[in-house]
Amino acid sequence: MLSEKMQDLMNSQIQAELYSAQLYLAMSVYSESENYKGFANWLKVQYEEETSHAMKFLNYIVERGGTVELQAIEAPPVKFGSMLKVFEEVYAHELKVTALINNLYTVALEQKDYASQIFLQWFIEEQVEEEANSSQIVAQLKMIGDSVGGLFQMDHALGHREK
Ligand code: FE
Repeated sequence: MLSEKMQDLMNSQIQAELYSAQLYLAMSVYSESENYKGFANWLKVQYEEETSHAMKFLNYIVERGGTVELQAIEAPPVKFGSMLKVFEEVYAHELKVTALINNLYTVALEQKDYASQIFLQWFIEEQVEEEANSSQIVAQLKMIGDSVGGLFQMDHALGHREK
């Protein structure tokens, strides 16, 4: 059985993952409107991934005999500026998510909730990847600067992301 505190935190995490999904979907639509189809594709795949993160938490709460309480999801922004601005925001957002996951793990340790510790380890590894992926894109966009050719090439490359 999940503790009430852990259940509440995991319900909030579902909300956070679904907000991430909304944010990346909004960024995807924005990128497409700016004619960056490849960036839009990358962000749409990311949106799908965030939805699957929410589902992992949802299924885990159910499996542990807890109660899932879905919460309202905030509306994301509509406009984001340059692709560099978009991905700086992705990276900053992922840092916030990492802090949330780390907090969940701290609580799981405090409560000697071994099952949740094991469950959360997947997310700890996932966040390493999320931070690395987004910070790499930020670094590349900084290298490219205002080069239209560079942006075009990168847009093409990100268009190949499938999952
Ligand atoms: Fe996530």
